[in-house]
Amino acid sequence: MRVTEGELELEVPGEQTDGIEESVFYNPRQELNRDLTIATLRAYREREDRAETYLDAMTASGIRGVRAAADGWDVTCCDVNEDAVELARANLARNDCESRATVEHRNVNALMHEQVFDVIDLDPYGTPMPFADAAFANCRDLVCVTATDTAPLCGAHFNSGVRSYSAVPRNTDYHAEMGVRILLSALARSAARFDVGVEPVLTHATSHYVRTYLELEHKATAADAAIDTLGHISHCEDCLYREHEFGLHADPIEECPHCGGNRMLTAGPVWLGSVCDSEFVAAVRDEVPDAFGTAEKARDLCTTLETELDEPTHYDQHKLCRNWGLPANAMDEFLTDLRDAGYAASRAHYGGTTFKTDASVGEIREATAASLE
Ligand SMILES: [Zn+2]
Repeated sequence: MRVTEGELELEVPGEQTDGIEESVFYNPRQELNRDLTIATLRAYREREDRAETYLDAMTASGIRGVRAAADGWDVTCCDVNEDAVELARANLARNDCESRATVEHRNVNALMHEQVFDVIDLDPYGTPMPFADAAFANCRDLVCVTATDTAPLCGAHFNSGVRSYSAVPRNTDYHAEMGVRILLSALARSAARFDVGVEPVLTHATSHYVRTYLELEHKATAADAAIDTLGHISHCEDCLYREHEFGLHADPIEECPHCGGNRMLTAGPVWLGSVCDSEFVAAVRDEVPDAFGTAEKARDLCTTLETELDEPTHYDQHKLCRNWGLPANAMDEFLTDLRDAGYAASRAHYGGTTFKTDASVGEIREATAASLE
C-alpha cells in the first residue's frame, strides 16, 4: 500500500484500515505526531545551528527518517526487525534520500552507547523507558520521546505504571496530564544519572500517546535543577481539590483541606515545571507548512500550548459542574469570570472543556457560580 505524507511517498505493508490502534510498520494516526516532529526539527535547527545528525531509533517503515532526511538532516534509521530495515531502505531509495541516511539493523541501545547523535527520537511500542538511559548517555542536544502506554502512565494500570516509571501514578480527572508529568519525571531522573539536565521545549498529550521534546544541558547543576522540579500532587477524589509540593519526599495529606473528606490520593514524583517553552512552540507553529496533512490541527495545538498556564494540573469545566450539580457554561465566559475575579486562566490542550487556573477548586466555584445558576 502506498501512503503520502509530508509530500513524500512511501510503501508500507497491509491495508490502511480505519480504527486500527497500532500498525507495526505504519500508524496513520501518528501523522500529527510526525508533522509536528518535522516542524520541531526545523525550529530547533534555528535555535541550535550545529545540530545535524538525527537518529530514528525505531524506524519501522522509515517514515520519520525519510521525512527528516528530505528536510536536510543527516539521518540514521535503526531497527532490530529485518523486514523493517529492508522497508526503510526501500523508502529512503524511493525518495532519493539514500545519500543522507544510514540504515542500521541492530539493537538501538548498543548503537546509542557507541555513537553520538545531535537528536535522538524514541518512538517504541509501549514505554520508552528501556531506551531512555542509552539515549541520554550520549545525545548532544535534543531527545524526542513518544509514549503510547497511556494506561500505565495515568495510573489506570497502576502496577505497570509503577514498574515502568519508578513513580506512583494516580488515576484522576486530569489523567492525560498525569501521564505527561509521570513520563517527564522518569525521563528527568534517567538523564540526571548522566549529569544531564532536561528542559521540555514542547510536550503534548494527544489521543493515545504522550509526546515530548527535551533539550539537554550537559551539566551536573542542570541535572540537579531538573530533579528540583520534581514533587508530588495531592488530590481529593470527592471535591477535586488538588495541591502540589516540590521535593522527592512525599508528604501525604490525610484530610482534604477543602471538603474535609479522607479520599486523598498522592501521586509522584511528577514533573511540576513547565512542559513547553512558549516562544519555541510559536516558532514550531510557524514551521508547519500548508502542505502537511495535519497542518490545521498542528497549528491549533501549538496555539493552545503557547498560552496554556504552567499550573501542574488542569480542570475540566464539565466535570466540575457535574460535581457541583450545576449546568456548564460556554468556555470563554467561564474563563472570563475567573479572570474578572483576579485569577489567571487559560484553555488547556487536553480537551475542549479543559482549562488551567491559579484559583483553587473553591475559588473557581465562587468566581463562576453566579453565571452557572
Ligand atoms: Zn475534598
